[in-house]
Amino acid sequence: MFNAEIKSAPDEDICILIKVDNHPFSYIIDCGEAKNLSVKECMNTNAIFISHTHIDHFVNFDTILRHQIGIQRKVVITGPIGIIDQVQNRIKSYCWNLIDKDAITYEIREILKDGEYKSAILRPPIWGKEEEKVVKSSVVFEEKQFVVEYEILDHKTDTIAYLFKAHDKTKIQLSDGLKGGKWVRELKDAYETTDEEMRIEIEGKIYKSKELFHLIHVEKGKKLGVILDHTANEENHSKIKRTFSGCDEVYIECFYKDEDKEFAEKNYHSYASKSGKIMKACDIENAIPVHFSRKYEEQDILELVEQFNKARK
Ligand SMILES: [Zn+2]
Ligand SMILES: [Zn+2]
Repeated sequence: MFNAEIKSAPDEDICILIKVDNHPFSYIIDCGEAKNLSVKECMNTNAIFISHTHIDHFVNFDTILRHQIGIQRKVVITGPIGIIDQVQNRIKSYCWNLIDKDAITYEIREILKDGEYKSAILRPPIWGKEEEKVVKSSVVFEEKQFVVEYEILDHKTDTIAYLFKAHDKTKIQLSDGLKGGKWVRELKDAYETTDEEMRIEIEGKIYKSKELFHLIHVEKGKKLGVILDHTANEENHSKIKRTFSGCDEVYIECFYKDEDKEFAEKNYHSYASKSGKIMKACDIENAIPVHFSRKYEEQDILELVEQFNKARK
């Protein structure tokens, strides 16, 4: 369902691209420098999810903006408190006298607290804040096939960890010689709206929907998590457990090796074995460590990943 690709090389800042099966658009998580992120991928992006705006997570925003100008549709940007001003300031630092009014629209969603974000629209050439409103929802982004939820973690500043959650799929198992038809959609609707009394006709025979519910099989939607910079403390870990337990796949920051845990504590980061342990506590089979300190050589990163994996066992 979700196909995540790390677009940044190990010596670059973090940038992850998510593609979705049977869906035309891509999604970017964090705008670290990433030469592998193509012009086409930027143009095809429907939303950008920012964890926080330390420079290593936001420095490439201008390049993405550069490639998106002219796509003539809306792109959503989500992020922590301050993101509306920060995006607006970045954009306004350029001269826009030749741009078409409908070249692009950004809708910025600034996560204020659990279950609440503020949104504002920015349009060329003035890029003033329009249609500002506060929305009460634990879902910060929604598409037909999936939603994006979040946790606000502490990194001496708010940092947003994102959960991509595909909707459960209701499937009908055709048994007893039944053939598909209009009734399949009707039965799914009845099940999804818990209507037990709906009259459903199959090959001339009328049933009550509840008599057919045994044919329904619910396929759980896939879940993908991306947890970037955060302090490896109790409070963050309990939030991570609350939202990311049982995910199919999680990308988690692992900025330091265990030997450098003092730096991790000083800089409000996690480190190899702490990230591994929390992934174990969340029962994540497919946990991928990302975002390593740039001081590390290839060998250091191998050791770091080993420490991470050892802690997951
Ligand atoms: Zn940071
Ligand atoms: Zn970082």
